Amino acid sequence: MPVPTQSNSIFSQLEAFGHKKVVFCSDPETGLKAIIAIHDTTLGPALGGTRMWAYKTEEDALYDVLRLSKSMTYKSAIAGLNLGGGKAVIIGDAHKDKSEALLRKFGRFIKNLNGEFITAEDVGTNPRDMEFIRMETQYVMGVPESIGGSGDPSPITALGVLMGIKASVKEYYGSDSLTGKSVIVQGTGRVGENLVKLLREENAKVYASDINDDAVQNIAKKYGAQAISNNSIFDIDADIYAPCALGATINSQTIKKLKCNIIAGSANNQLEDEQVHGRMLLEKGVLFAPDYVINAGGIINCYSELMGFSKKRTMQLTENIYEATRNVLKLSKAENISTTEAANKIAEKRISDIRKVKSTY
Ligand code: NAD
Repeated sequence: MPVPTQSNSIFSQLEAFGHKKVVFCSDPETGLKAIIAIHDTTLGPALGGTRMWAYKTEEDALYDVLRLSKSMTYKSAIAGLNLGGGKAVIIGDAHKDKSEALLRKFGRFIKNLNGEFITAEDVGTNPRDMEFIRMETQYVMGVPESIGGSGDPSPITALGVLMGIKASVKEYYGSDSLTGKSVIVQGTGRVGENLVKLLREENAKVYASDINDDAVQNIAKKYGAQAISNNSIFDIDADIYAPCALGATINSQTIKKLKCNIIAGSANNQLEDEQVHGRMLLEKGVLFAPDYVINAGGIINCYSELMGFSKKRTMQLTENIYEATRNVLKLSKAENISTTEAANKIAEKRISDIRKVKSTY
């Protein structure tokens, strides 16, 4: 993906990222300030979460929504979904500035896009907020199961990450069995806890870390994992490192220290710099399963809700992440390119192929 910078003008950023449409939503009465970015709709409506965050500047908010919406295009494309990429940000403190009126006003902006953009929860928003948006528009997924939604996507996301880990283990060790393999799970929140559970069911040895000491001790006891301090992650000689907390944990300093052979986790944007650090991992012989390929369970869950799929079909689509990861790793090896470059190539090819289909009849 080209790497535009935040210092570019608004229109040159849009051009560099390749966006189709960006909508600025302002409503002084409710205090709503939001940006909806629709990156690409070749494959279908743009689906992406709404993030509420107290951005320092409006430029930061714009840059974030452009970057995130573009990666949604790639995530859905490689997962084989008929969805385009979009994202929205609401500028504000989710603890102080959120209200029913603000969310419903935001819902009306989404309604006016007539299905070109469909949203769901993200950082700073939750299923209850989606219910308020649903009061104004049908174009919102991730509403609670009690009102017909798909509920918490985290168990599905964890299953997809497990598929990505198994495909990576197959590529690196020749068999996808996790028996006896050791995995460091960084972040034992909603996805991390589910992943620890799945890994233990596969007889992997699990080291778990979190900044919340009590939570990690409880999870370690519950599933038979070993709790470790967050500072020791890069000192442990494990087979796999699964980042399930924050982005950018893989950078020039941590790559030097890293002892694991495989990196595969749920956190978004794990590489501080996609190109530089993707290449460094390739040269060091560390297999990196691109985050957007293996953490697609959440978007698959939303897609299923949109299509009215059964839980069984959702699980099947999520299990396909194994094959999608294998394809990325094979292309990376065949062309000696980073796994992220390989994933981007596969996603871009699917979009351009389908664009040709749609331009004919
Ligand atoms: P969460 O907030 O439930 O859990 C995150 C956990 O990480 C928390 O327990 C937190 O204490 C811990 N943490 C924060 N900083 C840490 C640090 N420096 N070191 C160790 N632990 C730290 O979030 P989640 O829903 O489990 O998501 C985890 C990651 O996966 C996020 O990056 C998210 O964007 C990504 N993701 C989640 C989903 C999903 O379905 N929930 C889907 C796709 C991607």
